[in-house]
Amino acid sequence: MKNNLSNIKKAEKILNMSDCIAIPTETVYGLAGNAYSDRACKKIYKLKKRPKNNPLIIHYLDSQILKKDCIINNDFIKLYKKFCPGPITFVLDLKKNSKISKIATNNKKTLAVRFPKHPITRSLLKRLNFPLAAPSANLSSKVSAVSSDHVKEDFGKKIRFVLEGGKSSIGLESTIIDIRNKPKILRLGGLEISSIQRVLNKKIIINNNPLKIFSPGQFKLHYSPGIPIRLNVKKIKKDEAYILIKKMKISKPNYYFLSQNGNLREAAKNLYSTLRKIKKNNYKSIAVCKIPNKGLGKTINDRLIRASKF
Ligand code: AMP
Ligand code: MG
Repeated sequence: MKNNLSNIKKAEKILNMSDCIAIPTETVYGLAGNAYSDRACKKIYKLKKRPKNNPLIIHYLDSQILKKDCIINNDFIKLYKKFCPGPITFVLDLKKNSKISKIATNNKKTLAVRFPKHPITRSLLKRLNFPLAAPSANLSSKVSAVSSDHVKEDFGKKIRFVLEGGKSSIGLESTIIDIRNKPKILRLGGLEISSIQRVLNKKIIINNNPLKIFSPGQFKLHYSPGIPIRLNVKKIKKDEAYILIKKMKISKPNYYFLSQNGNLREAAKNLYSTLRKIKKNNYKSIAVCKIPNKGLGKTINDRLIRASKF
């Protein structure tokens, strides 16, 4: 705990200087900077090699602080009460007098906001007098980082500090919902749509039409480990790594299991680290078994389909 506090203080100091650090969250690690500072936000784009038209998600401690920057509504309040802090990102209208950097929003009049649950990042947010702009802490279009080692693999010494928080407990990015008018899912994520549906009790549009990209998280090429991926594979080719949803009786060095018994939460948590491990072990291609297309399985499939567009 003492160790955590000194790390949090170090993180605070660097952020106050408008520099960037990596922070742990329950979804994936974030590359964080002061969301009110153009300098910090510019640095995030530069480090990630992120296209400027892909705005950043802003991380807040709570909805009271958010109200300084955004207009909220009843649907937001319902979902906030049920799921926050947690793996859901809301797209809201920005207030005219908001101090959020225009670099972070790419001059949009809307803002994507989230309330992370990880206790270390919450302790950090409590000490800051600004929210944190924090996209996933990986190079643009590549696999997200779910541990501090992954962040270091991607950025090395280019990031001044990685705040240690262990392995991300969910391991998939947040679900993004545009909540301004009719609720619209812009990105599948760590919170299941059925849970959102139950709380709002109204029709939710799922905007997964790749021809009408509103949120660049919908871009097809994304989450790529940098080698080809084949999906729904029953029979693998020679020298391929094989990802299986659950542990099999027979185990071979090229078999990678996402879970013990097919539990989708466990599989989600292990997905990105497995993709990274396979790449590190020098395989040149990956085959993946059929993943059930329900609950978090839908998000896993969404990421694998995008990753397979390599
Ligand atoms: P990342 O943090 O790297 O997972 O990416 C953040 C995601 O949030 C990207 O897909 C962005 O396009 C999306 N996003 C950020 N701001 C907005 C916004 N104002 N409207 C819609 N999507 C957004
Ligand atoms: Mg990302």
